[in-house]
Amino acid sequence: EAAIAIRDLCKTYAGGKRALDGVTFDVPRGQVFGLLGPNGAGKSTLINILAGLVNKTSGSASIWGFDIDEHPRNAKASIGIVNQEITFDPFFTPLETLENQAGFYGVPKAKRRSLDLLRAMGLEDKANAYSRTLSGGMKRRLMVAKAMVHSPPVIVLDEPTAGVDIELRRQLWDYVRGLNARGVTVVLTTHYLQEAEELCDRIAIINHGRVVANEPTRVLLGMA
Ligand code: ADP
Ligand code: ADP
Repeated sequence: EAAIAIRDLCKTYAGGKRALDGVTFDVPRGQVFGLLGPNGAGKSTLINILAGLVNKTSGSASIWGFDIDEHPRNAKASIGIVNQEITFDPFFTPLETLENQAGFYGVPKAKRRSLDLLRAMGLEDKANAYSRTLSGGMKRRLMVAKAMVHSPPVIVLDEPTAGVDIELRRQLWDYVRGLNARGVTVVLTTHYLQEAEELCDRIAIINHGRVVANEPTRVLLGMA
């Protein structure tokens, strides 16, 4: 069974913009899967549907075998989503942010889990600082930690390296590889071919709300 299964997914926004126009693909378990496409292609819309933030117009999607309509809580518990926007409170500390998130999901030993994640993300020195004082890179790492708190089998990163410098980009890439090595299925959206090429086992290209290619990276790049 796929980690994520998308079938004939359509989204037309109020106002008539058709952002997704019959999208179908599977994300195989255990892979790093790249969703590549230019700005406006529909990548964020797709992710926001998986996150429950945008309602689809038609079609279906399931996460780890849980249909997002029929079993929304199970679907949501199976995925961690890192959006481009910062969604933690700047006046809470990273430790508080993670403990609260752990509380939402009923994660046992919330403090232990939160501290372990902060260490894994290199944020242990900032555990008790106001989050507003973190650097841009640290804020992104805290967003990743927040998405991982309930140990989901799938993590989605929406444009993880948009606007970040080369050093942080390398750090995030290494982190993605590490997560995947520990068995986490990773989906990332990007408009950088090089990033998809570097990290992904498989790449789907989306344009104008349609999947125009979906191949193992080596095949897509003509290396097979
Ligand atoms: P990107 O998807 O690369 O972040 P966009 O400019 O496409 O950049 O979108 C930024 C955000 O603005 C998206 O999260 C989307 O929800 C919102 N947005 C984009 N286009 C519109 C629009 N026409 N009307 C309302 N909101 C929009
Ligand atoms: P991407 O993430 O690939 O940049 P988006 O999913 O953000 O693409 O956008 C797909 C299309 O839908 C774009 O034309 C965008 O302007 C439009 N769009 C996105 N969000 C909204 C929204 N909230 N309302 C209306 N149109 C939107």
